[in-house]
Amino acid sequence: MTAIAQYDGDSVPTLITDVAVFESAAGTVDGPFDVYLNDGKITAVRAAGDMDWRARTVLLDDAVLVDGGGRTLLPGLIDVHVHLGSMVAVPGKLRIPDPFDNAAAFAYCGVTTVVDLATPMAEIARLRRRIDSGRAVGPSIYATGKPFSAPGGHPESSVERMFPSAIGRFAARHMTNRVATAEDVDEALTTEPVGDAIKVMFDSIPPGSPEISDEALERLTFAASALGKPVFAHVGRSEDVDRALAHGVSALMHLPYAAVLSPAQQAQLVALFIPAAPTLAVWDAVGGLASGHVYPTDLGREVLTPRQERDLADPLAHAPLDDEMGAWAKDVAAHRSVRLAGAKSFADAGGRVLVGSDTPFLSEPAGAGLHHELDLLQEAGLTPGEVLRAATWGNRTFLDPQGKFGAIVEGWQADLLMVEGNPVVDPEAMHAVVDVWIDGRRVVRRPGGR
Ligand SMILES: [Zn+2]
Repeated sequence: MTAIAQYDGDSVPTLITDVAVFESAAGTVDGPFDVYLNDGKITAVRAAGDMDWRARTVLLDDAVLVDGGGRTLLPGLIDVHVHLGSMVAVPGKLRIPDPFDNAAAFAYCGVTTVVDLATPMAEIARLRRRIDSGRAVGPSIYATGKPFSAPGGHPESSVERMFPSAIGRFAARHMTNRVATAEDVDEALTTEPVGDAIKVMFDSIPPGSPEISDEALERLTFAASALGKPVFAHVGRSEDVDRALAHGVSALMHLPYAAVLSPAQQAQLVALFIPAAPTLAVWDAVGGLASGHVYPTDLGREVLTPRQERDLADPLAHAPLDDEMGAWAKDVAAHRSVRLAGAKSFADAGGRVLVGSDTPFLSEPAGAGLHHELDLLQEAGLTPGEVLRAATWGNRTFLDPQGKFGAIVEGWQADLLMVEGNPVVDPEAMHAVVDVWIDGRRVVRRPGGR
C-alpha cells in the first residue's frame, strides 16, 4: 500500500520554464515565464527566454529543470471548509477515517492550504507536526477544533441517523462541544483547546433537531471576542443566516441549501465584509443520496480507494435512508437550481465568495471535492477566472491578509500546482494536474496508488 502522494526527496532548486502563470489577484493567465523555486520560496518570476539566466541558474544552483510549455502554473488551491477527520462513506457503513490519507489526497489535487472545521485540536496538532516536519505530505492547516452545537443537534443528529449503530452513536456524540448553557460553554472552552476560530452550528438537520440556545450563543460570541477569535457559522437555512448575523459572526461556511439570500441579508453581509462559502459540492452529494445515485468526478476516481468506489456504486445498499434524513436529502436535491442561483446572486451583490468543499464527506473525496466545487461555481454563473481567484487570492485574503501564499509572487511560499492547458479559457484544464509543489518540494502523485 503506497500513499497516493509522497515527497520526491527534499526541496531542491527548481526552474520551471516557459510556463503560463495564473495571476491570482487579477484572475487572469499571463506569460510565458520562467519561475524559479529555491528554499521553499518562489525566488524569481521572469519573462521566459533569458538563456543566460537559465544557464547560470542551472550551473550555479544545480537546479532541476521542469518544462512548463503549454502548461499553467497556479498558486496552490485553498479550501476553507474541510474535515480531515472525516471520510468518504455511504449511510449505514461507517468507515474508519484516516486523516493522513485525506491530507495526501488534498496534496494530490493541488490543495495546499485548508481550514479544518471539526477535527479535534489534538488530532490537528499531530497532523501539523508530521506535515510541517515533512514526514507526511499534506496542506498547511488552519483549524477550529470541535464545533459548538446543541446537545443532540447537528451533526450529532444527522450522523447518528445515517450510521445507526453503537459506534455511529458514539462517534456522533463526540463530534461536537455539546452546549446548552453559558456554563456548558465555559466548561467546553477550558477542557477542549480552541483553534484559529470558533465554529458554531446554526441549523437543524434533519429538520426539528435541537438548535443551539441563545444563552450558549451569547456566551460563545462573548468568549470569542475575549479570545480574539473569529466565529465561523455553519448555516443551512435562511433563518440561520439571520440568527448568525444577529450574533455577529465573521463568516458563513455554507450558503442556504434551499434558498436565495434576501436583498437585506446580502446587503448586510456585504456591508460587514462577511464572506460566505456556497459549498455547492457537498449539497449535491447530499442530494445525490435522495436518488441513490452519486457520481464521483474523474479526479475523484483517481483519489478514491477501490473499497470507496464499491461503496459509492450503490450508496443506499446498507441503509435505505427512508427516514427524515431521506426526506431532507430529497428537499436538498429539489432545490439545486435555487442554491446555484443563490451563489450567483450573492456574488453579483458584491458578496465575498469563499471556496470550500466540506469534504471528505459522502461521495466527495478530499481535494477532488474542491475541484468539483470550482466546476459548480462556474455552473452557477461565475467565470473561471473569478472562481480560481476566489480559491486562491480571495481565500488567502480571508485567512491571513499578511500571508505570503495564494499568489505567484517573488518571495512568497512555493505552494504551487501546474496543469495542462489554460484553465481560464478551458475549465477542464484545471483538473489536468501535472505537478504539485508544497514548500518547494515536489509531490509524487500516484493515481489510485493505495
Ligand atoms: Zn462541514
